[in-house]
Amino acid sequence: MTAQAAVITPKEDPWQMALRQFNIAADQLPLKRGIRELLAYPKRELTVNFPVKMDDGSVRIFTGYRVHHSTVLGPTKGGIRYHPDVTLNEVRALAMWMTWKCATVGLPYGGAKGGVVVNPKELSREELEHLTRRYATEIGILMSPEGDIPAPDVGTNPQIMAWIMDTYSMHRGYSTPSVVTGKPLAIGGSFGRIEATGRGVTFVTREATRHLGMPLAGAKVAVQGFGNVGAVAAYLLHDQGCSIVAASDSSGGVHNPKGLDPRALVKFKEDRGSVTGFPSANRVTNEELLEVSCDILVPSALEAQITASNAGKVKARLVVEGANGPITPDGDEVLEARNVLVVPDILANAGGVIVSYFEWVQGLQQFFWTEEEVNQNLERIMVRSFGQVLRGSLDRKVSMRTAALIRAIERVADALMTRGIYP
Ligand code: NAD
Repeated sequence: MTAQAAVITPKEDPWQMALRQFNIAADQLPLKRGIRELLAYPKRELTVNFPVKMDDGSVRIFTGYRVHHSTVLGPTKGGIRYHPDVTLNEVRALAMWMTWKCATVGLPYGGAKGGVVVNPKELSREELEHLTRRYATEIGILMSPEGDIPAPDVGTNPQIMAWIMDTYSMHRGYSTPSVVTGKPLAIGGSFGRIEATGRGVTFVTREATRHLGMPLAGAKVAVQGFGNVGAVAAYLLHDQGCSIVAASDSSGGVHNPKGLDPRALVKFKEDRGSVTGFPSANRVTNEELLEVSCDILVPSALEAQITASNAGKVKARLVVEGANGPITPDGDEVLEARNVLVVPDILANAGGVIVSYFEWVQGLQQFFWTEEEVNQNLERIMVRSFGQVLRGSLDRKVSMRTAALIRAIERVADALMTRGIYP
């Protein structure tokens, strides 16, 4: 295993985490046993093993997954991850979290996720395109604009979405832009989609600091995972007056208690491939980053980074989950006991799927919005959802995670009961 892979391995099984979170919330609801059991199962799971012709003429076999957790509220929606540590259990967890996320913010979608066990950094552009087109063909039996709509996640990007859209369209014989979201603008992407998740993170961070009576201007922020979500959150929070004191990626992190310039850091990472080595900053590990002195921590990398063993060392008063599942249930308990407010993933990082929804709607209607319209609607939904979840948390005296899950599970269960059990 490479040193890089060692840094980024989740420290707990994400599917067990997702089930524990679900059970904590479900215990608070009068769900019939069969309904509760049904909601805990993924609806369908596809595993594909497929060949890819490499540049040197050899053939390599890759494994990929696509899991649909629930189709109760509508077509399934969820990203595709390219990462060497992808497992079926991780994809299951991410699919379930997508169901709850869409229900939390009121989108007419069920949850899905896909993944391929691959380190995309080790492939040439041609190999990446071949892998993507073959994987898209393999999962084509599940994917459609009406049925299942993928999007980017860790290790994938708008170009990969473009290849998926093109592959699907070639098979159909006509262009089908709404089969994926997170596409480049040139082929029907939406303004604001690239920044949407990080922008959503900044809206809920602002709302949470208001609730805590903590001034946002001058707040010290540490960001684990300086990728699509983390880097955008960092520079938008910096625009709001926050001081970004630490940031990391899979090679390690950088720390300066006086603050880093996040836009310069983005440029540095683009040029050098990592944040490490950024001038006038100390080097820290990913573990150390979680424990630096700061007011707000934004974990935006992978699952299970904050656990029972390090949650006691988190200095932040507010943790906003840019990533999916960065805190284990035991880590949650420690943070809650220490009065650290956690804005949960299924609310905090919902900005991505919200603007993906806008992109899908725009594509289906062939009628496109301005960036201002996209961002205003994003803000409206994020602020409303934050307020509803916070109210639920205060009323029921539960964490914001459990409050969001209760709300989401109630919505899905209600729709399920209304539809009825077929036949
Ligand atoms: P990305 O590939 O753009 O960035 C991931 C970043 O994290 C990279 O910089 C990588 O080097 C780094 N990284 C990986 N493991 C790390 C670790 N253990 N410690 C520190 N850095 C690490 O991916 P992304 O799209 O920004 O996704 C990040 C997280 O946000 C994931 O949990 C993803 O599921 C979640 N998310 C993404 C979106 C989206 O729209 N892209 C939406 C919602 C949630």
